[in-house]
This record gives sequence, C-alpha cells and structure tokens, in this order.
Amino acid sequence: MKLSELYNKGRTIFSLEVFPPNKRCPIETVYDAVEKLSQLKPDYFSVTYGALGGAAAGKSTCDIASYIKEKCGTEAMAHLTCINSTAADIDAALELFKSHGIENILALRGDINPDLEPKKDFPHASDLTAYILSKGDFDVAGACYPETHVDAESPVEDILNLKKKTDSGASHLITQLFFDNSCFYKFREKCAIAGVNVPISAGIMPVTNKKQIERMVTVCGASLPPKFVKILQRFESDPEALRDAGIAYAADQIVDLISNDVDGIHLYTMNNPYVAYKIHGAISRLL
Ligand code: FAD
Repeated sequence: MKLSELYNKGRTIFSLEVFPPNKRCPIETVYDAVEKLSQLKPDYFSVTYGALGGAAAGKSTCDIASYIKEKCGTEAMAHLTCINSTAADIDAALELFKSHGIENILALRGDINPDLEPKKDFPHASDLTAYILSKGDFDVAGACYPETHVDAESPVEDILNLKKKTDSGASHLITQLFFDNSCFYKFREKCAIAGVNVPISAGIMPVTNKKQIERMVTVCGASLPPKFVKILQRFESDPEALRDAGIAYAADQIVDLISNDVDGIHLYTMNNPYVAYKIHGAISRLL
C-alpha cells in the first residue's frame, strides 16, 4: 500500500522508525524489536539506511523492511540516501526494493562525510525523489527540518529548497526530531505560506539518557526548552528517573501535537520496545 493513501484521512498517522542491525544491535535483536513494536499496530514502520550507502546498506534496510511487511504484516518504508551513491547504485537499490514488494521510500541526501568525496549524480534529496519516481511505481517521502537544516544558507532558503522537494513529487514529509513544539507550529505555518502543502509527520525522539541528548544537540542542532533542561539537570545522575521523565516529556509533546491537528507522529524508537510501549500506552486513545 502506498503511504500517501493513509494520510489525509482525518486521523493522526502513527509510525515507528527502526534501524537495521549493527555491531551493538545484532539481527536477532532487530527482529525481536520489530515483532514487539508491531504489536502496537503502527500505521507503518520506516527503516533507516546506513550513512555510507552502498549495496550492504541497501540489503540490510531491505531485509528488515521485508521482514516487517511479510512476518509482521505491517507496511514498511525504506530510507535511501544518495550523496555517496551513483545512479547505478541507486538503480540496484530500487531493483532490490521492487523485488521485495517495497513501494514506499524516504528519499534522503544523507550527511556529508568529510572523509568521502560526495558523488555527483544526486546532490540533493529532490534530485533523488524525481529519479525514483521516474524509475517505478514508488511512493516517495522526504525529510524536513523545523529548526532549519544545519547546512542551509538560511531558514528561508531551506523552506524554498523543501518546496523543490515536494515539487519533485515527495508525497509527505517527516521532520527531524525537536523538543519544542512551538518550533514545529511556526515551521508548519511557513510551509503553508511557501506552498508546501503535503502532510507532515512530527518526528519525536524520547530522550532516555544524557549522552544521547548531547549527541542530538550537536548533530541536528535541536533547541532545548527550559522545561526540558530542568528535567536533565534534575535527573542526570539517575538513569531510570531520566528515562521515565524522557518518556513523559515525549508523551506530553505528542498530546499537544495531536491537539493541534498534526498529520502524523513518527516515533524514533531506537529499536527500544520498552520506551515505545510506555509512550503508546499514554497516547493510544488519542490516535
Ligand atoms: P536535502 O533535502 O538535500 O537538504 C540538504 C541541504 O541542502 C539543506 O540545507 C537544504 O536546504 C539544501 N538543499 C536541498 N535542495 C537544494 C537545492 N535544490 N539547491 C540548493 N540547496 C538545496 N541519514 C541517513 O544516513 N540515513 C537515514 O536513514 C536517515 N534517515 C533520516 C530520516 C529523517 C526523518 C530525517 C529528518 C533525517 C534522516 N537522515 C538519515 C539524515 C539526513 O540524511 C541528513 O539530515 C542530511 O544532512 C540531509 O538530508 P535531506 O534528505 O534532508 O537533504
């Protein structure tokens, strides 16, 4: 099923993001996590794509996405990055997805790696979006940044670039994580003014440890509202209390977003069913 058929139905779409196996999270752990997470009956899962690209990244993402579709009976969207890929690499990934019945793709540029010369075929996600749509019957989504992408010249340029992405055919968007809902509401208004009219799912990451937050702030520049900083200061030396407070904070963010007619909630699960269950328990009746 194409995910664009799900949105615009007057209810909040609930999706879960998982990542494929890595050194710390072997394949059995990922399968176990997705099976448990599928009990929450999300509308769909999305599966991330290794930052370095290449055939191994495509296979890993495809394996998990296929497992979700076939074994868990839930729709899956495969992420695909392009900055370290040639058109031939992308063709191979698309063939693989197609042969496994994966019809939903989150088209991404990927982060620029200072140790790798970027490939030239797809400088931006909008180039990849148009290419995927020219290659088959796929539904393509895109990423967006309520607090502006770190490489963007300005917030205005970033929104105008986002418009190129939806003009290229992105049918819905998923935001970078944010902790301050007011950033999301302002961003949504600017999108509407710029003519970015596709559904936008809000990316929510429940913060469960202090190191994770420091990394998030460095990598994606998410601002930390005073209420959030207070929680960090109060519970930083008590991991379980910090985890519970992080879960409560994320649930509170989601309640506010649903009350303000968000199109979708996209939970960055970090392959952690415990946290996702707690949050789902707090919000399931609102969906
Ligand atoms: P783009 O949309 O290409 O934007 C990147 C920058 O280029 C922005 O500053 C933008 O303003 C600018 N730009 C865009 N189009 C143009 C244009 N036509 N002309 C000039 N400038 C332009 N990374 C992974 O490696 N694997 C993943 O699985 C993954 N999943 C993600 C999921 C979500 C929901 C999000 C929000 C991010 C994800 N990322 C992932 C990270 C993402 O790859 C990085 O944030 C990357 O730096 C930007 O990707 P993009 O697709 O948003 O790029």
